[in-house]
Amino acid sequence: MGKHTAYWENYSRAQVRGALRMSGVILAWVFVLALLAAGHDAFGKAFPWLIGAGLVGLAATTAWLAMRAQKVVCPECATTYTRHKWGGRCPHCGLGLLQQDP
Ligand SMILES: [Zn+2]
Repeated sequence: MGKHTAYWENYSRAQVRGALRMSGVILAWVFVLALLAAGHDAFGKAFPWLIGAGLVGLAATTAWLAMRAQKVVCPECATTYTRHKWGGRCPHCGLGLLQQDP
């Protein structure tokens, strides 16, 4: 067990949960859009707007969750950084992503 083994194990589990949550959110939006499409006649002229709003909502929540998934809190120095931007390395202390010992 390295110094940060437990932390990175938790991190990996959280990444999996995040991916599941994102799939769930996308499915929920697709469901909402399907309901809107099914009720097409009831909405009349508002229909294209509702579909548009649904698509914007889907894109916005997906982008937000994806951005959140990129955030890493370094277990060594508690710096928060974006995974891809820094090549998976803490910009403050240089600890690599999933690196167990500094
Ligand atoms: Zn660090």
